[in-house]
Amino acid sequence: MVPRLLLILLLTLAAAAQSGENELDELLDWQDQQIVERFSADGSADHSWDPLLQSLAEQLVVGVSQVFPGQGEPVSFRVFRQKLGFNAVCWHRVVIVDSLLMEGLERLSQGQAVYGELDTPYTESILRQISMERPELPPPPGLSWEREQQARKLFEEVLAAWICHEVSHAYLGHARERLRQARRLEQGNPQVNPLLLDQRIRNYLDYHLGPANELEADRYGARLALRSGFGLEGYRRALLIIARLEKLSGADASFYRTHPRPADRTRVLQEVEAEESQERS
Ligand SMILES: [Zn+2]
Repeated sequence: MVPRLLLILLLTLAAAAQSGENELDELLDWQDQQIVERFSADGSADHSWDPLLQSLAEQLVVGVSQVFPGQGEPVSFRVFRQKLGFNAVCWHRVVIVDSLLMEGLERLSQGQAVYGELDTPYTESILRQISMERPELPPPPGLSWEREQQARKLFEEVLAAWICHEVSHAYLGHARERLRQARRLEQGNPQVNPLLLDQRIRNYLDYHLGPANELEADRYGARLALRSGFGLEGYRRALLIIARLEKLSGADASFYRTHPRPADRTRVLQEVEAEESQERS
């Protein structure tokens, strides 16, 4: 959900791109491939989550055909042990997931299963760890087999929401849009010092396209979650977790927000829920 990871690589690729508009698809595919190869090469690929992600992605097929008609090209998910941030980034048809997101969501779900709610000291301790440099995420004490099964369900629900959001970025063409904007900026400023230009492009990508694209991905992601039978409970919990995390890190008060406020994102969910129930009746 946080489009910061690998930004430098994107900028390098964007700067190298001299081809015309109609070659963008090829360039985007190539970019996907480069990103996956780069991560796979350093041994940080984590395949332990592949079956779960694959099965959740398969459950989206019907929803995708309704929400994004004519756009069946599969989106793949790659988890990497970067521990750089609690995030996932959608490129063109590949989503890069930091293992910290997977492990963090799993622990938070286990905590919720053990204590019966999310707002507990255990949750806070996990969220604090997530914002640290070398996070350690111990399981909650008293995690029985039974609770573990409940946690599994909660984890899949919240992860499905994340996947719906990222898949929506892919089918809404946000990677293409970002690449196009970056190139437009670059072409419009032939005299500018390359370092300054890099900074400007980066700011543009971070601050201008960010919030609007995030809300759009939420709108479609929520629809996708509903049409795929996941419901919105996991989505609400994801936003609650982000809100708690922002509060802990102080990001919620920052003037330079790169992302819409969780409250605005929750409002989008409510709007979609109302629209969808109206459509059904
Ligand atoms: Zn996002």
